[in-house]
Amino acid sequence: LDEMSMLRGTLDFANKSASDIMTKEKDVFMLSVDEVLDRKTMEEIMEAGYSRIPLYQNTRANVVALLLTKQLIMYDPDEELEIVSLIRKKKKNAKIRVAPPLYASQHTKLSDLLNEFQLGRSHMAIVYDDLNKKMEQRTLMGVVTLEDIIEEILQEEIVDE
Ligand code: ADP
Repeated sequence: LDEMSMLRGTLDFANKSASDIMTKEKDVFMLSVDEVLDRKTMEEIMEAGYSRIPLYQNTRANVVALLLTKQLIMYDPDEELEIVSLIRKKKKNAKIRVAPPLYASQHTKLSDLLNEFQLGRSHMAIVYDDLNKKMEQRTLMGVVTLEDIIEEILQEEIVDE
């Protein structure tokens, strides 16, 4: 780590927005709520290796929830639960809890994203072209996580374990 480049990263921060640092839509690993949590899906989740998976209904742009993969630690794939059932129930004591998604615009400033993440409800934002449009008319641009923001400050990649 180099302090000068961190300082530069911090100063640049003010000028940057979600679209500058997001993981692009085509690279985002998502699941449809119509999928079943069976062995095959669980293997795909394992292989992708992400801790947060956007769940969409009908089209990829319509992200309705986030699956936090740590919720799957005790899950038995032979149960073959439908993802949609997790969303419908949303019971406090449901076996696998899904989280509400945090939506951001491509123009949302990194400082505002960081503030949202600090509130602790979610560490992933779903980035759209325009939040003022109705959901059906929005374009999904990508996702941003806390790690993307930290990398922007450090000006270096964080290598995952
Ligand atoms: P994780 O905890 O899953 O490793 P991080 O929040 O550490 O995720 O982010 C690491 C990188 O992976 C970031 O660039 C982030 O945008 C990207 N990322 C996170 N979740 C997904 C996902 N479901 N699909 C594609 N990229 C993702």
